[in-house]
Amino acid sequence: TPVIYWFRQDLRLDDLPALHAAVESGAPVIPCFIIDEDAPQKWAPGNASRWWLRGSLGALAKAIEKRQGTLLVRSGCSEDVLSELIEETGAYAVYCSQAYEPWNRELEERLGARLGRLGVALHCLPGSLIFTPGDVLNRAGLPFKVFTPFWRHCRSQLPESRLLPAPGVGAFAAQVPTGQDPEAWPLASSSLQPVEDWGERWTPGADGALSALDRFLNEALSGYREDRDIPAVAGTSRLSPHLHWGEISPRHVAQVLRTDAPGDTEDDQEKFLAELGWREFNQHLLFHFPHIDEQPFKDDFKSMPWRPDADAFEAWKAGLTGYPIVDAGMRELRATGFMHNRVRMICASFLTKHLLVPWQWGARWFWETLVDADLANNSGGWQWVAGCGADASPWFRIFNPVLQGKKFDPEGAYVRHWVPELAALPDRSLHAPWELAPLLLAEADVVLGETYPHPLVDHATARAQALEAYHDRSSAP
Ligand code: FAD
Repeated sequence: TPVIYWFRQDLRLDDLPALHAAVESGAPVIPCFIIDEDAPQKWAPGNASRWWLRGSLGALAKAIEKRQGTLLVRSGCSEDVLSELIEETGAYAVYCSQAYEPWNRELEERLGARLGRLGVALHCLPGSLIFTPGDVLNRAGLPFKVFTPFWRHCRSQLPESRLLPAPGVGAFAAQVPTGQDPEAWPLASSSLQPVEDWGERWTPGADGALSALDRFLNEALSGYREDRDIPAVAGTSRLSPHLHWGEISPRHVAQVLRTDAPGDTEDDQEKFLAELGWREFNQHLLFHFPHIDEQPFKDDFKSMPWRPDADAFEAWKAGLTGYPIVDAGMRELRATGFMHNRVRMICASFLTKHLLVPWQWGARWFWETLVDADLANNSGGWQWVAGCGADASPWFRIFNPVLQGKKFDPEGAYVRHWVPELAALPDRSLHAPWELAPLLLAEADVVLGETYPHPLVDHATARAQALEAYHDRSSAP
């Protein structure tokens, strides 16, 4: 009799504890993935994620085929589909990796109860993080709410892990019931469709993850500490969508860093590990405080006088705010399904502080458009910027988008690429075109209000209003 391996956000074969346990059971393993449109409720994947998932399932199916197995894909309610499969195959156990989104945890609970009634065991093991949520607590036995002590604690215990091997030929069942073609799954009808060939930019799947890691180690790790802030440079790993879908385990990434990193990169390695640490921190926070997907971590932000200004929000989404670095980021996002981390911070700060639009609106747009959309990291990132998160940047630290542009895109390569209508402006005014005399603007073919928008808000005025709003929140009853 077989067992079922239920793939979720762990689309790989290497270093996957629950799959390893399924194989170790000695029973033939039926690998399956369920397209469940209803379980995530309000957090159904956005179009960019769906595009990624389709490619990733195709890659996983091929990897399983190489081992003479077949990935079974079905659509429907996860509990129903798994119960049907158990009936069809006589499987006596289901294995899967834990996932920490509130809806995923509820699903695990419902499924455990349902399978229990059928007399079928559910083995749900950790696999997507280095440290398991619930295991990392401070001296008082409580979750950490500040990153530095959290990471100090974890860093000192970073395991020298032995990675688990992928299943060999013969581990998967030779026969599986019929399913559907994973790559035939349609993208949701939405205004957002990939506008360029993302297939040339991204390679979803475990092989794509390994190539990204390899490129990073050889071309970007050295100097990562500084270059990671420069959006015109490919100075980061771009592993985030691969990590989100579990195409590579973070233990594997940490291990390769230890064994294969070039010499003289200790500082860079430490910084990179700390970024993986932020990923762990956000997941642990969401595990302990599941409401922070939409509610501010800090309660006093519930009375923040946001301005739900739909026009300003649309201008931000379209990359037409009149602030070049913000517009460049928003256009990069729409065109590629990705935005550089520094620019995510600048764009999120602009939306929440300059425009006072609720952070949840921005988080929702990122959810729809990012190939790495991840509930813990996305709400964590937005709450950090908006000042309402657990270990957040204080509200009064309001990025000046002109100075941020000058500092992190000093030669303007990033802005010129994404906002080509400003390309002919001299470096000194590229990040603040309105400061240039109309005659000089005209020489660069720029007519403010026609070829490129006037700034949506004045920085100094917006800053003062943001501080006032924050004060009003504090004095609200
Ligand atoms: P690298 O610099 O190469 O970092 C390696 C890995 O560490 C990343 O792949 C990622 O898994 C993790 N990491 C890096 N920076 C962070 C961070 N600040 N917080 C948490 N984990 C991090 N990341 C997502 O994965 N999904 C999201 O939906 C997401 N939304 C964000 C929203 C906002 C407003 C902000 C400010 C940040 C968000 N981030 C999100 C975090 C970060 O921007 C991305 O993880 C990073 O840009 C991915 O690029 P990279 O893989 O090249 O990063």
